[in-house]
Amino acid sequence: GFKMGIVGLPNVGKSTLFNALTRTAAAQAANFPFCTIEPNVGEVAVPDARLDKLAAIAQSKSIIPTRMTFVDIAGLVKGASKGEGLGNQFLANIREVDAIAHVLRCFEDGDVTHVEGRVDPVADAETIETELMLADIESIEKRLQNIVRKVRGGDKEAVQQERLMRAALAVLEEGKPARVVDVDEDDVRAWKMLQLLTTKPVLYVCNVGEAEAAEGNALSARVGEMAAAEGNMHVIISAQIEEEISQLELDEAEMFLEEMGLKEAGLDRLIRAGYELLHLETYFTVGPKEARAWTIRQGTSAPKAAGVIHGDFEKGFIRAETIAFEDFVSLGGEQPAKEAGKMRAEGKSYIVKDGDVLHFLFNT
Ligand code: GDP
Repeated sequence: GFKMGIVGLPNVGKSTLFNALTRTAAAQAANFPFCTIEPNVGEVAVPDARLDKLAAIAQSKSIIPTRMTFVDIAGLVKGASKGEGLGNQFLANIREVDAIAHVLRCFEDGDVTHVEGRVDPVADAETIETELMLADIESIEKRLQNIVRKVRGGDKEAVQQERLMRAALAVLEEGKPARVVDVDEDDVRAWKMLQLLTTKPVLYVCNVGEAEAAEGNALSARVGEMAAAEGNMHVIISAQIEEEISQLELDEAEMFLEEMGLKEAGLDRLIRAGYELLHLETYFTVGPKEARAWTIRQGTSAPKAAGVIHGDFEKGFIRAETIAFEDFVSLGGEQPAKEAGKMRAEGKSYIVKDGDVLHFLFNT
């Protein structure tokens, strides 16, 4: 599965947000096999109204949404890359995630201490990014000597690694994150292997006051400008509202949202933004037993998509019977879609599209 790490300075609302995410997930646990992995790791259902539509048409007994993992990563403070705060454990945690949800304090509240003594989300973002850049510089410098030795010894892979490390180091030393480096197609794999923290895509989460959840405020607007300039994404959320919503029943929650002038829960927007950030999409398997959503990266071939369900599906892949979501819904299910000629048999080279309803045929 895909993992988002929640980072940010202390007291910005990370835990509040994480607890809301996992409490909501726990409340939905009746619908799908839910597991809490560790106190700071939670799996969250990806909201998708299409799945409910498909299940209603097929009269599926159970509905199983696809999931995304969130990790609450505490310990990032100024000086963290030098071992201050909780030390370096968080670096290992960040290395393991696919993307970073960076929570920024955009709420004013005299009762909640700010570690830097002022509310300035743009400066906070820079503080965190600087720590991540310093950590990257340090990790490259540590590895570089060894790589240079390997290059001298004639190791071809090391030549590529050294070149990429130096490219990263050059931008990092200019004070820029490694994600600004243009990486050739041929280098993508080796680049990923470097596991640099500042190559991870970032989603800024502006934690605003309760009254500002719909429109944001001047602080979140500044974050929006910064995110746009960097080519990153941002969402506006009130962690406190989300926490309150997570304690309500579904119909109460909907009324509450309406009262606050919100179309949907901020968590849903957050999860979907994470999906977009990672270039993910969803395909469905639908039958009388269950309707289920599965996550793939955009551009995934049919056999690889089958492999998400089970390795054997990929190995023995024959073909994928495919119905587009719109056809499935407008024609009223698999059988009518088939009769209307809208079920296609797709082979190994087929690139799965978002919303495809798939049925895999495979050799065992
Ligand atoms: P963390 O250290 O980043 O995990 O921050 P917490 O989630 O523990 O929040 C720190 C404090 O800020 C707690 O007392 C929260 O209740 C409070 N807090 C979090 N979000 C908001 C918010 O949107 N508005 C206000 N006024 N307080 C908040």
